[in-house]
Parts: sequence; structure tokens; C-alpha cells
Amino acid sequence: MKGAMKMPKKGIIAIISGFSGAGKGTVVNELVRRYGYSISISATTRPPRDGETDGKEYFFKTREEFEQMIKEGKLIEYAKYVDNYYGTPKDYVISQINNGKDVLLEIEMQGALQVKENFPDVSLVFITPPNAAELKKRLINRGTETTDIIDKRIARAVEECSYMDKYDYIMVNDDLDKCVVQMHELLQSIHFTKNNQIQLIESISSNFRNFI
Ligand code: 5GP
Repeated sequence: MKGAMKMPKKGIIAIISGFSGAGKGTVVNELVRRYGYSISISATTRPPRDGETDGKEYFFKTREEFEQMIKEGKLIEYAKYVDNYYGTPKDYVISQINNGKDVLLEIEMQGALQVKENFPDVSLVFITPPNAAELKKRLINRGTETTDIIDKRIARAVEECSYMDKYDYIMVNDDLDKCVVQMHELLQSIHFTKNNQIQLIESISSNFRNFI
């Protein structure tokens, strides 16, 4: 009877957001490296930073190319963030979850809430640093943005605070290792929510019906 309960497992989609500088990129990379999660590669009109390559961190697009992708319905969601477009290409995410892979989307709030509207089963996880001073320190230490952009990103973080309660889970990234382990445990537990166990519910029910 054991076999009757084995079902092809579909992957989950989890959206990871957080203030710019919260360390979510590092957390996500560690989740991929340690546990083999799939990561969706976004398209953006932001110019590449030093060391970033097309197709790895992002698909770098011109504004015209990006607007064409919007028109053709190739994005699950998109948003404008500090003067640039960012969006999630649809085909890759769908094929990964159909192949049983768990997919992480590292996207900002507007986009995250858009996806939740279209796909209510996705899990929204928000990563925050322990406090604002730590966030500023991390942004300065990263050394990838001008002071002007850092200020804009902090101002954006203040706005984002009022949307944190729209997320399903809130995680503090103080100690990286602890945050990565907790995140993995959380993501694995999502597989057991009833919406992700519908096939199992049906199979158990039919198994019990046939048993009597
Ligand atoms: P950055 O320029 O630092 O790489 O990213 C800026 C912000 O854009 C981050 O908050 C990041 O999570 C978000 N972002 C990256 N890719 C996407 C995407 O595909 N869609 C949306 N909505 N936001 C994204």
C-alpha cells in the first residue's frame, strides 16, 4: 500500500524579499549552494555592477527590450525599483516547479505582492537586518552604490516597513549561518501545508475508502 501514496512531488515557489542590504542575496546563494534550490534569474534594466555577468546575476536588458517582454506577457511580475525595471521571466519558474524543484524568487515588495495575487500559494518571506544602523553599515561596506543611491535605498526601506505585515514569514538576518539554516527548515516545512498536500489528501482518502 506504500506505493499508492507516492505522488510526483511539485516544487514550491518562495519569494524572498527584504530591505536592500539585508543580505538576502547572500542567504539565497547559500541556500542554492548548500541545499540545491533553484533560483529564478530576473531581467533588469539596471546596468551590471562590477563582476556581474549577463545570464548569471541578471538578464541585462535595455528599456525597450524590457517593455517588449512586458507586452508579450513573458514576465510573472515586474516592478520599477529606484529608477529601473526588474521582472521575473515566467517559463523557467513554471518548468522548475513542474520538475519538482523548489524555486526561490529574490524580488522586491511590489513584485512580491503581485505574484501573491496571481499565485496565492506562494510563500512570502521577508528578511530584515536587526536594525537600521546595521543596514546602513552593510550598504556602505558593500561599496557598490553611491551615497545618493544608498540614501534612496534607505528611504525606500522606511516605506517598505509598512508592508512587512503582508508577508507570511519574517526572518532576522543577524547571523548568516543561523539565518540560512532557519530558512531551509522553514522552506521544507512549507511542503507539508495542506495546499501542497492536496494529492496526498486525495490518495489517502481513496486508500481508506478502498480499505473498508
Ligand atoms: P539590485 O539592484 O540590488 O540587484 O536589486 C534591487 C532590488 O530589486 C532588490 O530588492 C531585488 O530583490 C529586486 N529585484 C531583483 N529582481 C527582481 C525581479 O525580478 N522582480 C522584482 N519585482 N524585483 C526584483
